[in-house]
Amino acid sequence: MVRESEIRRGEVQVEIPAATDAGLIFIGRIHTPWNSRMVAPRQGRQDGPLCRIEVFEPWVRALEGLDRYGQIEVIYWLHLSRRDLVMQSPANDGTARGTFALRSPVRPNPLGTSIVKLVAIEGATLLVQGLDCLDGTPLLDLKPDRRLFSPIAPPQPGDAEVGGDV
Ligand code: SAM
Repeated sequence: MVRESEIRRGEVQVEIPAATDAGLIFIGRIHTPWNSRMVAPRQGRQDGPLCRIEVFEPWVRALEGLDRYGQIEVIYWLHLSRRDLVMQSPANDGTARGTFALRSPVRPNPLGTSIVKLVAIEGATLLVQGLDCLDGTPLLDLKPDRRLFSPIAPPQPGDAEVGGDV
């Protein structure tokens, strides 16, 4: 069950310690069809709707070479999430699990990651399929699909002959 910001039976809230400034930079903004957590998918699907990732200057140059990959990893900041639950009840049924045993958006540092299909790069805009975040979600990073950098995973169909060099 999707939450707004309520606390459910079985859940445990804690006082958040003072922030340590990691110096994160929002490098862009993600545009999706979803304006509410009630309608956003729990996880993206690579046959899902086309979404647009807008990259801000001065980071556009950093996209050079990314078009060699058929799938990329998108890291984003789930900016509307609460950050103070250590136990959560995703089903809202009174049973709870630890935050780190879940992919819930509610976490001390609300990072979201998705491996998406890279459909096209048009200047400072990426067209992708496979996201699950709300329209306007801040973008933190883009990386080639991590599976191409693992010694156990062969290249995926649709990927150029690349990988393993960083
Ligand atoms: N795929 C990512 C992951 O596994 O790290 C995120 C998964 S999380 C379960 C996706 C859910 O987060 C969506 O269904 C929506 O309810 C919520 N969500 C999406 N964008 C958000 C945002 N900007 N702020 C807070 N919650 C968001």
